[in-house]
Parts: sequence; C-alpha cells; structure tokens
Amino acid sequence: MPELPDLAIVADALHAALAGRSVQDAEAPAPLAVRGTPDELAALAGQRVERVSRRGKFILIDLDRDGIAINAMLTGRFQLAAPNERRPAKTAFVLQLGPRSKPPVDVAAWTIDAPWLPNDEAATELRYRDPSQMGKVYLRPARANRAIPGLGGTEQGPDADDPALTLDAWRERIRRHPGELKALLRNQAFVAGIGNAYSDEILHAARLSPFRKRTSLAPEEVDDLYEATRRVLAEAVDVLRERVPPHFETQARDFLAVHLRGGQPCPRCGSRLSEVSSRSEATTWCRSCQR
Ligand SMILES: [Zn+2]
Repeated sequence: MPELPDLAIVADALHAALAGRSVQDAEAPAPLAVRGTPDELAALAGQRVERVSRRGKFILIDLDRDGIAINAMLTGRFQLAAPNERRPAKTAFVLQLGPRSKPPVDVAAWTIDAPWLPNDEAATELRYRDPSQMGKVYLRPARANRAIPGLGGTEQGPDADDPALTLDAWRERIRRHPGELKALLRNQAFVAGIGNAYSDEILHAARLSPFRKRTSLAPEEVDDLYEATRRVLAEAVDVLRERVPPHFETQARDFLAVHLRGGQPCPRCGSRLSEVSSRSEATTWCRSCQR
C-alpha cells in the first residue's frame, strides 16, 4: 500500500511533469474505480493542471476549474508514460496531457532537470492502475461540493511530515488516542500518511513495541516516537528519490529495516525479528529491543 514516502515522490514528480499542461482527454477504462459521472469525466478535457500534491494517502490533482483526488488503497499505482507506450493491464484511469510552454516554477528541487521529465513540447500520459480495484478516483467538479471519505475534516489529522505538526502539537494530539501504538500511527485521524509498513519502521526506530498502549508511555517516549516518525519518513523519502524514478509504478520496500523481515536478525541488536499477521497484514518487530 502506498504510504507517505511513496506518495511524496509521486506528487513531486507528477507536479514537475504535468503542471502547466492541458488535459486532452480523460478516460476510465475501469469505470468502477471512478467516483463521478461520465459528463464530469468528459468535462476534464481542456482544463489545465495547476498543481499535483499529496494529502495523507491521497494524490490531489488541481485543474484550473475542477479537481481529482485519488486514494490508491492497497494496489493502486501511478505511471507516467509516453502516449504510444503500451498501457498496463488493469489501468483504471488515464489523463492524456498536451505539451506546455514551460515547466512550473514551484517544483521540488530534486525534480529539476530530471532525466525522466517528459519534454515540454511532447504529449504525455498519467495512468492510474489498480489490479485489486480497491482504490478510488474521485472527480471533484467545482460546482459540486462532494465529500470524499477520509479526506479532510475530523477524519484526517495533519500530515505526519507537516511542519505545523510540532512536538507540542504531537503531545497534544496523542492524548486523545489511548490504543496500541501500531494502530495509533496508522490512525489517519491522529496523523495522516502512515500505514502498515512505515508504522513498523517507526516503532523499531523508537524502540517501542507495536502492542504498547499509548497510555503506558512516559513523556520522553512520546517525544521519541515523534522524533522517530519524522526521521524515518524523511530518510525513506531520500532513499525513494534515488530508487523510484522513472518507474513511479514500482514500490521500493527492500531497504526497510524490519517490516516483513520476520525471522531475520534485528539490524540493531541481532535478535531474531518476530512477525504476526492478521487479515493478511504483517507486523514485524524485535522483542528484545522494542519495549
Ligand atoms: Zn532488536
């Protein structure tokens, strides 16, 4: 499942590649993935991409009038491709985009002059594919104030990497959530963007057991969890910038320290990592150095 670091790379890259281009055509080869009417889909044509960004586990595409929000869920992936490149199976949504006169000025530094950027004079395609068809593409016409499950409001806390989420704000927010730490980190109403994989990584970095109750944490442990959250996510983004482009549809996870490495030695203390699965989601941790 794409999480904050994966989607941060996708959002930066798509913004750099697509902003300033106009939609030539919008297609939904798998219409069940799209929440919106055929008319709303057709009305995307002619609109210019202003910004691509990430909020929690959503990719947001702002056009000059309407918008699109994509929640990739379990298996949704994004691809940037030349229009003549063969579309992968299970492609659910496609934006065909025309040339642009110049790239946008507000791009992430790491994307500037990147070799994978499509030429400004060339057309390009954004494809969203989803083999499990669990993700959703929400069309957001300017005229319809459509609520999107999990996006905004009280259902969604601040992004885990939001500069406004200071240590003080973290201490304040965490008081409202009494449960186990793994569930806490994955609770999008607490902080947004963390899922099954990075919650394991953060808890290992913080030396805290995924099954500890938040109510049992000492004040310094609350602070350690904040520090580990910020550090693990930032380090993953750094790695993924090197690893992912130009194949934005791939999900690099082999560099993770503990997630899905049950039975292997803990990279910190050498003990054998434990792993349990429930509903096909694994939790990996070290019984000897995570307390
Ligand atoms: Zn260990």
